[in-house]
Amino acid sequence: MRPKQRDPLRLNQAPRCHAQTRRGTPCQQAAVGGRKRCRMHGGAEGSGSPTGNRKAFKHGRYSAETIAKRRMVAALLRACRDQLGAMCDV
Ligand SMILES: [Zn+2]
Repeated sequence: MRPKQRDPLRLNQAPRCHAQTRRGTPCQQAAVGGRKRCRMHGGAEGSGSPTGNRKAFKHGRYSAETIAKRRMVAALLRACRDQLGAMCDV
């Protein structure tokens, strides 16, 4: 499917691709509509994983649930340390 013709002036203001080039500079090509990258840096039709991809799930270490639990434990530890610090200062 070919993309529909765009107004050149609007294309000029299209969001840019920020992929890192081999020179280390950002790509700056126009990003493909609805994507963050240009056609050469992963924005092409059919590229990328399908939405809700479960094949990428290995152990859940970085799942929202696990991250929330880690934050809770960290907050609890911080509170304990604060409490202990307050007791030692007196
Ligand atoms: Zn690019």
